[in-house]
Amino acid sequence: MKRIAILGSTGSIGTQALDVVAANPNLFQVEVLSAHSNSALLIEQARKFTPNAVVVTDEARYATVKDALQGTPTKVLSGSSALDEVVQWETVDVVLGAIVGFAGLRSTLAAINAGKRIALANKETLVVAGELVMRLAAEKHAEIIPVDSEHSAIFQCLVGENPANVDKVILTASGGPFLGRKSNYLVNVKASHALQHPNWTMGAKITIDSATLMNKGLEMIEAKWLFGLKDEQIDVIVHPQSIIHSMVQFNDGSVKSQMGLPDMKLPIQYAMAYPQRIANPYKRLDFREQSKLTFEQADYKTFRNLALAREAMERAGNAPCVLNAANEVLVHAFLQNKVGFLEMSDMIEKTLNSVTFIEHPTLEDYQKSDAEAREYAQEYARKSQLSMY
Ligand code: NAD
Ligand code: MG
Repeated sequence: MKRIAILGSTGSIGTQALDVVAANPNLFQVEVLSAHSNSALLIEQARKFTPNAVVVTDEARYATVKDALQGTPTKVLSGSSALDEVVQWETVDVVLGAIVGFAGLRSTLAAINAGKRIALANKETLVVAGELVMRLAAEKHAEIIPVDSEHSAIFQCLVGENPANVDKVILTASGGPFLGRKSNYLVNVKASHALQHPNWTMGAKITIDSATLMNKGLEMIEAKWLFGLKDEQIDVIVHPQSIIHSMVQFNDGSVKSQMGLPDMKLPIQYAMAYPQRIANPYKRLDFREQSKLTFEQADYKTFRNLALAREAMERAGNAPCVLNAANEVLVHAFLQNKVGFLEMSDMIEKTLNSVTFIEHPTLEDYQKSDAEAREYAQEYARKSQLSMY
């Protein structure tokens, strides 16, 4: 029986993790749930799974949740600092990091400090501070098992292999809803359109990142740190069917891939149960129904976020942190129709060139760079034509 803390339990990953728990009551028990502002769903989840505690990070929602759970065995805590506390509890075996964005960094570091097993969905944590996170994890013997489907695939391909024999990893990208489109089309797309992903249903932020290919850029940086790779060992290929979740090429030319139907519950349950596999009755991949698996070069010229992410990865230091902060601000603005689709790349690039470069950042440096980048990005967004209306 594994006791789990699910941070971000009301999101796309969090709710699917709870589906996995509900399907396997002999394997998992919910110890902690957390959400930012969706108090109604958090209350419903707490009633169903009776965790020891729930954390509502948005303090304005505390009273609502506290009142609703009066008389139940669940403690109600509030604020981000409460997350630091609960992940360290002895009764927590696995922390599922499913908070979105930079906001997930702090609790991930707290879980690492406590030497916990972390099933990590929150890729931004590794993008922002991958070097620091992996160094601390090694020091504290905290295992990080990826939830992101590409990284889960690579992780599974590497089981039983000597990492020194890896030539490169090949991240597959669906290409998103605008695959094949050019700038003259993209200049006019709105959030409602970009939110329609062909293969996956996910939170709003990652869905926009998938449409701009920033998601694949963030995943390159995530892979770099998770698997200790050099920049030139990381390749991206567009594979619109999302059946091959990623691949590893070894020094003898052999390539291993991990495949399956696109369903996030698979990488989630793999990370939660590792090194066990859990049998399930989900629909199986049938190659007769998937007779075509196709591949094409990613369009770095049109989808400039992918090129910008590679550039930030190569610059290293605080550059990926700045890239991430600018992207978070601009995705938020795009979702509110305040900046255009292509403007996001222009403004991320400007922000990257505005914030002071730090080669060997400390945690405080990352926090400062994040804040500084957000200010620049917000300022650029305010000057957008769309913001005027
Ligand atoms: P989501 O927006 O659906 O859910 C985010 C969760 O984080 C919610 O529970 C929310 O309450 C919580 N949250 C938001 N802001 C917070 C804050 N400031 N402090 C504390 N909690 C906060 O997002 P998602 O799609 O589930 O993605 C979660 C993470 O997993 C992201 O980093 C994403 O990149 C990664 N991921 C998601 C998928 C997917 O299929 N959804 C796939 C791979 C990786
Ligand atoms: Mg992914």
